[in-house]
Amino acid sequence: TMNAQALIRLENISKSFDTNVTETVAVDSVDLAIFEGDYVAISGPSGCGKSTLLSMLGLLEVPTSGKYYLNGHEIQELDVYQRAELRNREIGFIFQAFNLIGDLTVLENVTLPLTYRPGMSRNERKERAMAMLEKVDMVERAGHFPAQLSGGQQQRVAVARGLVIEPSVLLADEPTGNLDSKNGDAIMKLLDDLNAEGNTICMVTHDSRFAERGHKTVSLEDGRVV
Ligand code: ADP
Ligand code: MG
Repeated sequence: TMNAQALIRLENISKSFDTNVTETVAVDSVDLAIFEGDYVAISGPSGCGKSTLLSMLGLLEVPTSGKYYLNGHEIQELDVYQRAELRNREIGFIFQAFNLIGDLTVLENVTLPLTYRPGMSRNERKERAMAMLEKVDMVERAGHFPAQLSGGQQQRVAVARGLVIEPSVLLADEPTGNLDSKNGDAIMKLLDDLNAEGNTICMVTHDSRFAERGHKTVSLEDGRVV
């Protein structure tokens, strides 16, 4: 079947948050398949569950119920350490707020995800990070600190950091949300190019203009696919 080949498969995935006052169903009975080479855009209004869904895809949040298969792994069977290990190998994540580490240089930020690679030498890690910086056109800034860069430049570094592990999928949560339109367009163009090179991308946006960049669109409303 088609499903057997999916890189990512969600079956009836739900996530609720319990506070003392109320229970919020953030994601409600979602089915989703993502194939290698896909560019999926998840869109919908603020609060509809986009970030929660992406966090589950990125193994940052655990579903309350349902099944998640990632590259042959049944996620609900894994313990917290196995999930973290799988995340470090398979998932690249970029965030609205860039989330670079302020007291590390650009090069150190991009090298960081390779730190725990067994058998990879210091030199090899540096070479791979520099190759990624080349791809996002940030080589000249390798020795700079994040605060010395514009938002658009920081996000390009974050893309390099997300891709340096050669993940199965790059997840992007509102990657243009903190950028002006010129820098936002440049990041969208970068994602287009990366997808054209074969990278699988799943992006969250509340901006319908950007959602159209995806080759598949998933619209969420109150946690449900509509
Ligand atoms: P979006 O990214 O589409 O704006 P979110 O996934 O952030 O939506 O949130 C979906 C719903 O889940 C919202 O009602 C939000 O308040 C709630 N929510 C998200 N994270 C938490 C949390 N950690 N604890 C409690 N409620 C949460
Ligand atoms: Mg969000």
